Amino acid sequence: MDIEILKSYPLCHRCFGRLYAKLLHTSNYERGRSIKMTKAIELESKLYDLKERSGGVERLKWGDVEEEIKKIKEELSYLYRSGLTEIRAIEGLEVDSSKCPWCKGIFQEKNLEKILEKTLKLLSEYEYDTFLVGTLLPKSIKKFEERIKTPYMESIKQEFNRTMGKLLIEKTSKTVERENPDIVILINPYKKKVKLQITPVYIKGRYRKLVRGIPQTRWPCGYCKGKGCEKCNFTGKKYTTSVEEIIAGPFMEAFKGKSEAFHGAGREDIDVRMLGDGRPFVLEIKEPKVRKVNLEEIGEKINKSGMVEVLNLEYGTRKDIISFKNKPHKKTYLALVECEEEVSDKELSELEKKLENLTVYQRTPQRVSHRRADLVRIRKVYKAWTERIDPKRFKLKVYCDGGLYIKELISGDDGRTSPSVSKILNKRCVCKELDVLKVHDE
Ligand SMILES: [Zn+2]
Ligand SMILES: [Zn+2]
Repeated sequence: MDIEILKSYPLCHRCFGRLYAKLLHTSNYERGRSIKMTKAIELESKLYDLKERSGGVERLKWGDVEEEIKKIKEELSYLYRSGLTEIRAIEGLEVDSSKCPWCKGIFQEKNLEKILEKTLKLLSEYEYDTFLVGTLLPKSIKKFEERIKTPYMESIKQEFNRTMGKLLIEKTSKTVERENPDIVILINPYKKKVKLQITPVYIKGRYRKLVRGIPQTRWPCGYCKGKGCEKCNFTGKKYTTSVEEIIAGPFMEAFKGKSEAFHGAGREDIDVRMLGDGRPFVLEIKEPKVRKVNLEEIGEKINKSGMVEVLNLEYGTRKDIISFKNKPHKKTYLALVECEEEVSDKELSELEKKLENLTVYQRTPQRVSHRRADLVRIRKVYKAWTERIDPKRFKLKVYCDGGLYIKELISGDDGRTSPSVSKILNKRCVCKELDVLKVHDE
């Protein structure tokens, strides 16, 4: 073991031991002190022998011995300065453990206590079972570690994470969790700064939208962009409520979250209902102060709204959002179709046949062209059913690919969707009402 590094940097026992952290099952402190001790004993014994012998040495060689003694004493002084005050050959040198250029005294009890106190205060506002400590190092310390790197070394980060982790377990009786902790505690021990990163709570389920006229997500006022103006009656919203707000409201209250994000598996138009067994969604509650809540009770509250119902509520993870994003599910729709002219029964049964396994070429509808790229989508209708209401109106049930615009499938969108119900019947038809009956996500 080399103590060369101590000539440049008076590393304390703990930091010196950290250079060899991957060797032996022991603490960095003990490892560091032991190496220094071994080296010091070796040097002191040499010194002892040299002095014993020095009496019998010829005058010629005396200069060499003196030189040797000087060298050993110098090495011993490096060890002494790095905190090994047990050395007998040298005494009275000043040693200041906070001068260690690596740890700068961050492991001193009073420092740890201060950081612990800060952390506990921040944590006291949150409900959690698991946590993880993440130490943030100043750039200068990172650079220092690069400079002194050995193959057996660990970063001071690791040791500080362990040290704080142990103290926190003792104080809170919570557990450390690496993969998915409820709270990540970010500490810069050099600046004594502590910051919490609260993992969001994810609630997954399915929603039914029982009324027309509300959007899926919060819709900010177009004039004031959400700040509030006369046009929106200072609500900042274009629509007074949304599926998101109706669902998120009671959850936010219960979890005491800071904000939320609503992720739906696709969305229906404002004037379209979502019926059947609903559409999958994940509600992400950010920075929740409460993590354990009776979901059923909240579900009941939401269902009382009369506008939106939730079902199959359970706790989820971030992965649940990714799993249904960008995955267009097949859908079953129910449309109320109105034609300009009367439609015969024969025409309706022809329509059913022609729609079955039909490939539809659909250019981006005019009504969404301002926010969607103009391109031609190819989607399939798998099956269709019709049911007459009166001479000009009928119900049309369609089982088709996700992403097919049904209103345009019916109207033809001035030829942008082809074929269409209008084209097949050779009559102008419009979709008067639309419901989603099923999102086929299994
Ligand atoms: Zn140190
Ligand atoms: Zn406004």
